[in-house]
Amino acid sequence: MKIVLASGNKGKIKEFEKLMPNDEVIAYKEILGDFEIIEDQDSFKGNAIKKAQTIYDELIKKDYKDIIVISDDSGITVPILNNEPGIYSARYAGENASDKDNNNKLMSKLNELNLDKTPAFYTACIAIVYQNEVYTVHGWMHGNALNKEIGEGGFGYDPLFMPNGFDKTLGELSSEIKKEFSHRSKALKLAKKVLEVIL
Ligand code: IMP
Repeated sequence: MKIVLASGNKGKIKEFEKLMPNDEVIAYKEILGDFEIIEDQDSFKGNAIKKAQTIYDELIKKDYKDIIVISDDSGITVPILNNEPGIYSARYAGENASDKDNNNKLMSKLNELNLDKTPAFYTACIAIVYQNEVYTVHGWMHGNALNKEIGEGGFGYDPLFMPNGFDKTLGELSSEIKKEFSHRSKALKLAKKVLEVIL
C-alpha cells in the first residue's frame, strides 16, 4: 500500500517506516518539496487533521488519485507545568527551535521547581484522509520527564523521558523496545484497523 506521510520530522518518518514495513511510506516532501503546513489548531487532533487534509488537497490538485495521506501530531505533556509543552512541543523554545533547545527549556523548567523527575506523557494523534474523508485515532505513553538527558537514541524529548516500567530513558532503550508500546505505535495499531475497514 502506498501511503503519503504528512510529516517532515525525520525521527517520525523513520519510526513510521519501521512501524509499517509492508507499506510504501513516502514523506510528502519527496513529492511536494518544501511545502509549509501551518499548525495553528488548538489540539493534537486539529493539527493532525490540518496536516493530512492540506497535503491531501495539494496532491489532488496535482492529479494524484486514490491516495492515502496520514499525519501524526504528537508531543509531550507535563502536568506539573500546566500541561506544557503539549501541542507546542516542537516549538517549546520558540519557532524553529531545535530538539536540543526544547529539551534545555524543559530541563530548566524542572530545575526551577527542584524536580529531578515528574510524571509526563506523550500523545500521538494520527489522521487519515482517504477519498476526502477524515479518520482520527490517538495513542498515549505514560512515564516521567527527567531534568537531565540520558542516552542518544530516539529523537526529540526521548533522552528526557523514562517510560513507566523501565529504569532507562527512551534515549537509552532500543527503537525495537519503543516500538512495542509507544504513543505512535498504539495510535498506528488503531489506524491500521481503520485502513482495514475503509480500503
Ligand atoms: P509535530 O511534528 O508538530 O507533531 O511535533 C512533535 C513534537 O513532539 C516534536 O518536537 C517532537 O520532538 C516531539 N515528539 C513527538 N513524538 C515524540 C517521540 O516519540 N519522541 C520524542 N519526541 C517526540
